[in-house]
Amino acid sequence: MQLVFVGPPGVGKGTQSEWLSSFLAIPHLSTGDMLRASVEQKTDIGKSAQGFIQDGKLVPDDIVIEIVDSRLDEEDCRNGFLLDGFPRTLEQAEMLDQRLASRGMPLSLVLELTADESQLLQRLVDRGRDDDSPEVVRKRFQIYRNQTKPLLGYYDEKNILKSIDGSGTREEVREHIRLAVRQQGLEA
Ligand code: ATP
Ligand code: MG
Repeated sequence: MQLVFVGPPGVGKGTQSEWLSSFLAIPHLSTGDMLRASVEQKTDIGKSAQGFIQDGKLVPDDIVIEIVDSRLDEEDCRNGFLLDGFPRTLEQAEMLDQRLASRGMPLSLVLELTADESQLLQRLVDRGRDDDSPEVVRKRFQIYRNQTKPLLGYYDEKNILKSIDGSGTREEVREHIRLAVRQQGLEA
């Protein structure tokens, strides 16, 4: 099964993905984590991505698509995967669909996590990652609204979108996700 988490910065995609990927026994693929690891290791990709991440901008599609596509070829993805933070643009979504079609592995479910920006801003400032300053976070929210939200309509038309309230405690959100996954007939 192939799943995607979509949602604004700080909504809990990473936290919930860790649980859901182990619940469904599929790998958790976070482009944010992969990009931060590349920056840490000072690879060519990391050097190109660093400035975009610091400024709260999206890393260019071709870079991110390449990272994801090569990760999907790894052995542990053969029975599916959970994507977190990708796709983030319509171009990425269309490219992903093409690459998954050629593998005969279409998306099973897209989970949208929602919460108010004021609550998210507080969570992010508390988290305190380098790109979590209020100024950069505002930029990331803006990009989410303009570039990523159009994906919701794209997936809704394909009838694979489920929206989940991400504003409760992590346990409450987890139960909503468990239910959504079960309703879709996806269980480990
Ligand atoms: P959350 O807090 O819910 O885990 P986030 O939006 O705070 O999510 P990441 O998903 O880790 O954080 O992304 C951090 C940064 O990495 C983004 O601001 C962007 O610069 C870059 N990035 C991650 N995924 C992508 C992508 N699919 N396309 C372009 N840039 C990306
Ligand atoms: Mg994350």
